[in-house]
Amino acid sequence: MKSRFLLTCGLAVSTLLSSAQTITSPDKKLQVKLSENSGTISYSVNYNGKEFLISSPLGMITDVGDFSKNLKAESFKTDTVAFDYSLKVLKKSHITGKATRGVWTISHKGQKIFDIIFMVENNDIAFKYKFYRYKVNEKDEYPRHCAVIQDDKTSFNFPDGTKTFLSAQMKGGSGWARTAPSYELPYFADRPSGDNANGAGFIFPCLFKTPDGWVLVSETGVSSAYCGSHLTCEKPSSYKIANPLDSDYNFNGTSAPGIPLPGETPWRTITLGENLAPVAETTIPWDFVEPLYSPSKNYTYGAGTWSWIIGFDESVNYETQKEYIDFTAKMGYASVLVDNWWDTQIGRDSIEILSKYAQNKGVSLFLWYNSNGYWNDAPQGPRNIMNNLINRRKEMAWMQKNGIRGIKVDFFGSDKQQTMQLYEDILADANDFGLEVIFHGATLPRGWEKMYPNFIGSEAVLASENLHFSDDFCKQESYNATLHPIIRNTVASMDYGGVTFNDYFNTANDTTIWGGHRVTSDIFQMGVAVLFQCPLNHLALYPKVTKDSEPWKIDFLKKVPTLWDDVKFLDGYPGKYLVLARKSAGKWYVVAINAEDTPLKKTVSLPFISSDLTLYADDLKGVESMKTVKISKDKTYQINVPKNGAAIFVGKE
Ligand code: CA
Repeated sequence: MKSRFLLTCGLAVSTLLSSAQTITSPDKKLQVKLSENSGTISYSVNYNGKEFLISSPLGMITDVGDFSKNLKAESFKTDTVAFDYSLKVLKKSHITGKATRGVWTISHKGQKIFDIIFMVENNDIAFKYKFYRYKVNEKDEYPRHCAVIQDDKTSFNFPDGTKTFLSAQMKGGSGWARTAPSYELPYFADRPSGDNANGAGFIFPCLFKTPDGWVLVSETGVSSAYCGSHLTCEKPSSYKIANPLDSDYNFNGTSAPGIPLPGETPWRTITLGENLAPVAETTIPWDFVEPLYSPSKNYTYGAGTWSWIIGFDESVNYETQKEYIDFTAKMGYASVLVDNWWDTQIGRDSIEILSKYAQNKGVSLFLWYNSNGYWNDAPQGPRNIMNNLINRRKEMAWMQKNGIRGIKVDFFGSDKQQTMQLYEDILADANDFGLEVIFHGATLPRGWEKMYPNFIGSEAVLASENLHFSDDFCKQESYNATLHPIIRNTVASMDYGGVTFNDYFNTANDTTIWGGHRVTSDIFQMGVAVLFQCPLNHLALYPKVTKDSEPWKIDFLKKVPTLWDDVKFLDGYPGKYLVLARKSAGKWYVVAINAEDTPLKKTVSLPFISSDLTLYADDLKGVESMKTVKISKDKTYQINVPKNGAAIFVGKE
């Protein structure tokens, strides 16, 4: 009787003590509900009255204490934050917005342990934990000044019936020459939730389709101060933050990140809407991160070329690179990327001559480097330079002296904090020597375009090299292109290295030597130059084939921008088709692509275009054309795009 009374009493007390708070977006449609109950804390997310995330736990287990239970909400306050910034390397050049900031202060056994800071925009949420110092025992003379995050309990629980659009985390030590994880597994569209990729989990960004709309989960603001995290599926529709796998980095380094106290986690982000426009147009990766250093010079951007994608290792020789420099100058492009083995196949002395030759033609060179070190078996050189501060800075001084524009560093294979430190060190050193940086075989950049002013973009996707390796991948090219602009590429610049007029990804352009067979149209390839956003874009154009293409196609590629002012999602379904518009210098480029067997018959509404349109299109008989079209009074246009084809409209704002 007594114990029963106590139990009832205990429940009553916990109910009395339970606390719920709501953070509402500036337009009032998005609500984040916070609750504390029986010592645990959680959040849920509603949009337009519909549930997008159901009750999802918050909290952390650290080496200082288990901060997933015995928690109490101490205080809560909100205010409004406005932001306004310009950055030419993003999908939008000038970004303004407002967020409701909610600061939820949580205690653990009577001591304040962390604030959870939420930024709630109209279609986006960013949140992070800000830890206080903490005394493990009352007798402790000093509180703890650092902590290791052993298990982040932060979860994302979706309503039943949620479908997934996910790419698996690669296990460390897997893949070619033990270079994984490198974010190079396919995204699978429209899968039911439940599996966990053989225990490895899923990389950011993760796209979900709930019964009432779309949710993109990712993270941003990851520097050397934390690891890159990913999601693990605990049970169907239930996902949770996970530290990197132990196998990352060839088992070197720890997978649990460390923070100073006070200290904080990166931002975890949620973008949602009833359609995909908020996902394709989001700027949440950059809204609340800041530059970590100032640019040492005025970095510039544009298109470029690289020989490796068509000519492979053999093309990395003096004569071929010279041909590419001539071709690049003719196209009016900015740079040539000299890929792996240049150290032995061209040599430093000849690179100096090539660099001078290029500069005389208004072109500059990017040089490829292996990131290792001790964490992969990739034999490609140069090796053992970028992983070592002394070698790296000496090399960068040589590059600066010889007018080299930037570096492409490959084969990182880890999301551990130690690896994030290497990325940051390479970027910061490169800035000291005025060099731009591209990463391949790499993690997802998390806010890096704003945090590191000389960062260009990363691969972190199954990219164009797979078009060379595999006919099957060629067959998937249009399917993948419907996914990337709204998943991988919507959160970070993507160095994909595509766009070619070759029928085969080889120098013979036929079946006499190996090289994947392209099944997409030339217009589709031109569309990819718009759809895949990267401020300095190395295209897979092969000089000998390109020069025989129709002049209007070459002219399009000479003029297509790599810097954009705005983006609009017009229509699409990931894995099936996509209609997306990007604006640059007052001109809109609208691209429709189709990955389905049946032609894409749609009415496209273009109220934001005021001029006649130039239309580049495939018809259903396989004929490609360019023509000027008058837009109707209601500013709509009928499209009928065959599988693996495209329609591109260009018109003035
Ligand atoms: Ca790669």
